[in-house]
Amino acid sequence: MNCRHCEAPLEHPFLDLGFAPPSNRYLTLSDLAAPETYFPLRLHVCTRCWLVQIEDYSRPGELFDDAYPYFSSTSQSWLHHAARYAEMIRGKLGLDSNSFVIEVGANDGYLLRNFLEAGVPCLGIEPAAATAVAAEAKGIPIVRDFFGKAVATCLAARNQRADLVIGNNVYAHVPDINDFTAAIKSVLKPGGTITLEFPHLMRLLQYTQFDTVYHEHFSYLSLQTVEGIFGKAGLRVWDVEELPTHGGSLRVYGCHADDARAEGAAVGKLRAEEERHGLRELRTYRDFQSRADRVKDELLVFLLEQKRSGKKVAAYGAAAKGNTLLNYAGVKRDLLPYVCDAAASKQGKFLPGSHIPVLPPAALRERRPDIVLILPWNITEEVVMQHGYVRDWGGRFAVAIPKMRVGSVEQDLVS
Ligand SMILES: [Zn+2]
Repeated sequence: MNCRHCEAPLEHPFLDLGFAPPSNRYLTLSDLAAPETYFPLRLHVCTRCWLVQIEDYSRPGELFDDAYPYFSSTSQSWLHHAARYAEMIRGKLGLDSNSFVIEVGANDGYLLRNFLEAGVPCLGIEPAAATAVAAEAKGIPIVRDFFGKAVATCLAARNQRADLVIGNNVYAHVPDINDFTAAIKSVLKPGGTITLEFPHLMRLLQYTQFDTVYHEHFSYLSLQTVEGIFGKAGLRVWDVEELPTHGGSLRVYGCHADDARAEGAAVGKLRAEEERHGLRELRTYRDFQSRADRVKDELLVFLLEQKRSGKKVAAYGAAAKGNTLLNYAGVKRDLLPYVCDAAASKQGKFLPGSHIPVLPPAALRERRPDIVLILPWNITEEVVMQHGYVRDWGGRFAVAIPKMRVGSVEQDLVS
């Protein structure tokens, strides 16, 4: 296998999470009678360009098919994040009815609706049919396709070039990151701005967030790797912000390489911090497997102890990261009988691999668990706020990442 960006041979696998089914392939009752396909789940680091990447295994069509159930609008904190971003960027760039915004990976229109309401013309690119339909129902024009050079060429030919190209939590999920970046370049007006948000590799390593590794998450990005990828496509990063979302994300601001804008002070500062964290040194990656194993073992010991002492455990949040964690740890229904999730599209289904059933949140009140293990730890605050009644019967919340914690989990939130 060669690096997805620079094509150097990949010689340094550093995290092996065994085999797992695609983390968003939720199963129906009838699926449980059929075999399930598992794929290797391994991370490599390229020592030429330092892009951390998942081992090749599949085509995107197999991962983001019509069954893909993630609707961004399900999470309240994510909706607020999107609304705040839209307001900030409209002001910063002075966007109005003469501007044009393109969002790649528009999902159900949770973000673009803010531009629509403010009278800024926009277009979403979204391959998954169910979410595209939801976006169109909000009045947002959608191109139903994967974004890449082919789509970009069509848009550019119709003169649909943007003042702002947005990619929120999509950049890390594209298999061909060079093609995707070149496509952004070709739909960007001269003087236009790109903003991309993605989880920051530095935080993944720092906080042992190995559960954010899954097949659909192809690249694990840092400022410096993105600068390299942008450079090859004739773009550059002119500013960067650190965000608390997803346990620590970056928002990079990009423009054409020949744009006159000055580079923000934050860029040089973060570059130096990444150097200090050793993101471009092989030894930084060498102990990650043992750190991940320690976290996994702690979770297993915790669940076994609960079972031995007759405590009732439930999980909250049927998120992709939960599936990575549970499948790597080999947790099944005997240790974790059910998971609650607010997304109607997941309720009544079963988690891939572990086959743990997904129930509506009302099951918490009915079954009164002693422990609620929050799988998407990045929304711990939101879960604790919405389901604080668990404490009425003495129930406690727990999170497993970056280490096993029970009780006052919201006091040391990652996000
Ligand atoms: Zn490389």
